[in-house]
Amino acid sequence: MSSHTYDYLDGNAAAGELSAIFAMDVTIAESQCAHCGAIKRFAEAHVYMQAPGVVARCAVCEHVLLRFVKARQRVFLDLRGMTCLILDTSQPHEC
Ligand SMILES: [Zn+2]
Repeated sequence: MSSHTYDYLDGNAAAGELSAIFAMDVTIAESQCAHCGAIKRFAEAHVYMQAPGVVARCAVCEHVLLRFVKARQRVFLDLRGMTCLILDTSQPHEC
């Protein structure tokens, strides 16, 4: 087992990157972890920015919730670590 740890930010760090593809503010959404089932605000996720893209991990079990990579004119978004992303349409948001 590796003892190397990486610094992470909270889910708000991913807001800029994700706002390009989601019109709503994803950081106020709730996400359900596909591994442990925890439902938490995305802003509570542990976001790692040191990779070629953005990786968000569950704050409870560290399972990968989301991978986001931009390569030239393409965006690769992997959400398979989430069972569900819950967006509240009653919340006002800025565009
Ligand atoms: Zn989890």
